[in-house]
Formats: sequence, structure tokens, C-alpha cells
Amino acid sequence: MADSHPLTLTVLGSAGAYRTHQGSRASGYLVEHGSTRLVLDLGHGTYAPLAGHLGIDALPQIGAIAISHLHPDHWVDLAALRHALVHGNQMGRDARSVSVIAPSGLSSRLASLLDDRTPEEQSLGAAEPVQPFGISLWRSDATLPPLGGGRVVPVGDVTMRGARVRHTGESYAIRLSVDDQPGLTYSGDLSHWEDLAAIAQRGDTLLCEAGGGVAAWREGDAHITAYGAGSAAAATGARRLLLTHFGAEVDPADACRAAATTFSGEIIAVREGDRFAI
Ligand SMILES: [Zn+2]
Repeated sequence: MADSHPLTLTVLGSAGAYRTHQGSRASGYLVEHGSTRLVLDLGHGTYAPLAGHLGIDALPQIGAIAISHLHPDHWVDLAALRHALVHGNQMGRDARSVSVIAPSGLSSRLASLLDDRTPEEQSLGAAEPVQPFGISLWRSDATLPPLGGGRVVPVGDVTMRGARVRHTGESYAIRLSVDDQPGLTYSGDLSHWEDLAAIAQRGDTLLCEAGGGVAAWREGDAHITAYGAGSAAAATGARRLLLTHFGAEVDPADACRAAATTFSGEIIAVREGDRFAI
């Protein structure tokens, strides 16, 4: 009989790009299914709780790291993970490659971040920093996918799918599921909540950003509001709405109240360390 709660979500960080509350960490989530571990985004501050939860020796066994888009608050702790994989005491330089699925451009940005040469040295040739990552793209070919398009990536028994949403030029929402059961849809960052209809399935837990807080949404805003997150949960038939990615000014309790005006189901503002059976 299928496990009715096949996925376990651990929140590594739930803050936006510069939230200043004590302990705030940017976007990062660990999802486990049996011995399969997946990471959704790895923003600043999230390496430490990831390594603390799994243990440093288990880091090479991460099945895949999915990066939703290239704003640094969603990926910059790949640099910390890189150092742990390359220099961690028990692993050494033969640590196996960890799969990273990302928008195009991550590889060169990570290389720049890790490049410790002077400009004069750089002018002599490209850097070749040790990167224990196997980086592949959400794109299935050289063409930018349309909204909703993106690769389906099996990771063990977990099916991971990306769907392009409006935020940066190439941003993705990500869904994880097992055996066609309701799963977890993670919004990434997005400007239009309606884009989640292309990926979320009825009965899913919707882990959704509310970076726009409780202000009125206006065309041109980069983030949806808590009202929009509630609308997305209602429109897609979500079982539960987990609000995240809170900006510096947003009170999570206010965000929950705002989302409750558009969604009648369970709403939780997530915090670092929270765990959920999906
Ligand atoms: Zn963003």
C-alpha cells in the first residue's frame, strides 16, 4: 500500500533576500523520501541547517539540488556546499558529483563566485575551480521554454518537474511527487500567481512565496502577495498552503490572515526548522 505521506519537507530558510530578524535565512528546503534527498534552492544561510540536519558525510548522497532562479538568495550557499564537498574531512576531492538542475547561467556565475585569482591572472585564461556539481538545465534544448514548460527529472522514486513562471527571465516553480499521489508544489519566486496553475495538482501542499506581503499587488511587481498565494491555493485545489519568503517588513501572521481571505484551507507561515509530512 502506498505511503500516504511519502515526502518530508524540512524548512532550511524562509526569509526573503534581506530579512533582518534574528535567525533569518533565505530560501532553502530539504525534501526526503526514504533515503532520497532533494534540495529546493540553497540561499544564503541555508547550508548550515542542511549540513546540520543530514550530517556532513551524507552531503554527497544528495540526489538532486533544484535551483528555481538565479537571484542569489536562492543559490549562493552552493559555494558553502562546494567547500564542504571538496574539503570535508571524510570525503576529500573524490567526492562524487552532486546533481544540480538550474536555469542557464548558474555554472558561470558559480565559477565567478569561486574564482580567487587577480584580474591580471584572470586575463590569462578561464578559471577551472573544482566544482563537485553536475549542473544540468531545466531546458530540454537550447530554447527558453514557454510558461509552464520545463523538464521532468526522476530522482529515485520522486518525480521532479519544473514549470517556467514569470519573475526573472528564466524562473521555475517546482513540483515533487511519488506514484502520481498529491505532492509538493514549490512556487519559487513569481510575479503572477496564475502561473502555478500549470504545475500544481489538486491535493498538493503548496509551498508558496508571499514576498509581496499584504500590500496591494500591482502590475510590474516581482513578487506575488499573500492574497495571491491564497488565490493560487484555491484555484489549484491545494490541500494546504505553506507561506514563505517573507520580506523585511512582512509579519507572517498578517500574511496568513491575508491569505485566508482568498483560501479557506489550512494556512501556515513556515519557519526555519519546521518539518511537514506531505
Ligand atoms: Zn527572486
